[in-house]
Formats: sequence, C-alpha cells, structure tokens
Amino acid sequence: MVIIMEQGAEQAQIDGVIAAVQREGLTPFVNPGVERKVIAVLGAIDSAKVQLADRFMNLAGVERVTLISEPYKLSSRGYHPEDTVVEVNGVRIGGPEIVVIAGPCSVESRAQALRTAQAVKAAGAKLLRGGAFKPRTSPYSFQGLGKEALEILAECREATGLPIVTEIMDPHDLSVVCEYADVLQVGARNMQNFRLLARLGKTDKPVLLKRGPGSRIREMLQAAEYIMVGGNPKVILCERGIITFEDATRNTTDINAIPVLKQWSHLPVILDPSHSTGHSRWVAAISRAAVAAGADGLIVEVHPNPAEALSDGAQSLLPEKFAQLMQEVKRVAWAVGREVATS
Ligand code: PEP
Ligand code: MN
Repeated sequence: MVIIMEQGAEQAQIDGVIAAVQREGLTPFVNPGVERKVIAVLGAIDSAKVQLADRFMNLAGVERVTLISEPYKLSSRGYHPEDTVVEVNGVRIGGPEIVVIAGPCSVESRAQALRTAQAVKAAGAKLLRGGAFKPRTSPYSFQGLGKEALEILAECREATGLPIVTEIMDPHDLSVVCEYADVLQVGARNMQNFRLLARLGKTDKPVLLKRGPGSRIREMLQAAEYIMVGGNPKVILCERGIITFEDATRNTTDINAIPVLKQWSHLPVILDPSHSTGHSRWVAAISRAAVAAGADGLIVEVHPNPAEALSDGAQSLLPEKFAQLMQEVKRVAWAVGREVATS
C-alpha cells in the first residue's frame, strides 16, 4: 500500500500519517529525497487492507491511497510513478539521455586500464567499468587485482574524469571498494546474496544490480527492494542475459525484460550486451536492439587486445569497434526520440 500526500503537504500532516501507520503495527517508509511525499506501508497487511486504506485516505494531507499487490513495493511504479534518475558525479542515468558505461572486464595492468579508459572516453562513454574483485567460475582463473585494481581505476578517473563502476562481491570488501568506486556493481551471481544487498542498502553509493542468469524479472525487483528498504534508493537495474537451452550465445538476451522493467519499476534499466551474447560480433546488434527497446543505457566490455585478455576476451570489443557501436547507437537513439549522452 502507498499513501500519496498532497503536493505541499505539511510536515505535521506527514508525521500524522506515519504515526497512524505505526499504530496499526505496520512500517511506514518515506522515500528519501523525493519532493512529493509518498509513504509506503510495509509489513504483513491482511484482508483488512481495504478498510485500512479508507482510514488512511481520511487523514489530513492525504491525496490518495493505492494498493500494491506485487511482492516488491519501493521499486514499483505504483510507489513512484515518475522515472527515477540516478546521478553519478553529474551523469544522470534514467533521464532522457542514454548513458554508456564501458571498459575492461578486469583491470589487468595500469597500462591496459588507462589505454582503455582513454579510448572509451574519446568514443563518448560517460562511466568507466573495470573489475577488481572478479567472480570466476573456476578458482584457477584470474581473480582480479583487488585493491591494486581499485588504485588503478582511481588513476583512470583522475586522467579521464570518468566515474568508476566496479563489482563488490563480499561485504568484507565494502569499505575499501567504497573508498574508490562511484557505483557499486552487484554481479549476476550475487543478485540474491541478500546479506550483501542489505548491506548495500546502508551505503550512499549508487548500486548497479545485475539480473541473476536464472532469476525472474520479479525476483530482480525483489532484490532491488532489499537495497531500497535499507534506505538506499539509488539502484540501476541491468539485464545481462539469462540461461536458456540455446547455446549459440553465452546467455540469451532477454530484450523483453527492458520494457517489462520500465513498466513495472521506476528505476533506470540498462543492458549488458557483452555478457548477454558472449561474443564481440553480436554486441553492437544487441546494443542497438536494447536502445530501440527503451534501455536507459549500456554497459560494454572493451579491451585494447581482446586475444590477450585475462577474462572475457571473446566478448570484448576493440576500442575502434566500440567507437563504431557508439555511432550506431546514436542513430537508433535518435529514431526513438532520445539522445546518447557524450563526453
Ligand atoms: C562482469 O561484469 O564482468 C561480470 C562478471 O558480469 P556478470 O555478473 O553479469 O556475469
Ligand atoms: Mn566480464
């Protein structure tokens, strides 16, 4: 259930509603930083909810009360009808402009990261991605450079001005990752690591939440809910392909997820065409499709020498291929009435 306050409702009226909700043994949740106050009523609401809604409706300053039957509340459109824009050092994700994040799968060396950062910036990327702590299927594969990679990423930010997106795998690494990162990525494997999600709810950094390869869209929104109910509303949803019987591609891009998420949720939605296809030759086509389908952005893997990459070389684009992708995506954006934000 959400209680939508009148425009300009006074603080005393908001406090009155909060107290009324608490008297019913339920938890009020006021979205921080939103101009028009909407109070979500969280907790087990039983069959009496229609009567309860009527009671809240009659409180001073209340415009209307809406019942939300989905298992996710704060991430739902019903709670927050306008699109949420997540701002990262002046870059707005979820607004009219499409934002492209690009960079290597893993930070491998200072030279590799800096070269990639400069190339993606020149092509128009607005944020730099790069893995420091890598979730690898095999314990024998490259696990990432850890703190050293974070320091290199900070140097890349210094050199290019691009904010940094990097993955957080373990709550124990949170303080060191937060020291360097601008956006915390939750990898597909951790989408349902509920302790990690709850911990991220207590930070003030934007979170890029990737869809689990075997998770439903609804489950992804419930994962976002774990972060939001902790008090962090800055969540970016990322479709990165799901597992199906098809093995021509590494995963199957669920293009459907883009319009579905945009309808069910107010959060920004981006696509990762690198992991969703698993091969560089299909990355541009799926990037174009994502923008046509309404994505707010892309996250693309780029490497100066993919054949030598320590992770995900097959799906990484050469810088010149990435520059070409940017041009193609701009044309599609124009066709659907949007623009690509460029540096
Ligand atoms: C990555 O971004 O490099 C990554 C590991 O992605 P995912 O969690 O989607 O597999
Ligand atoms: Mn990768």
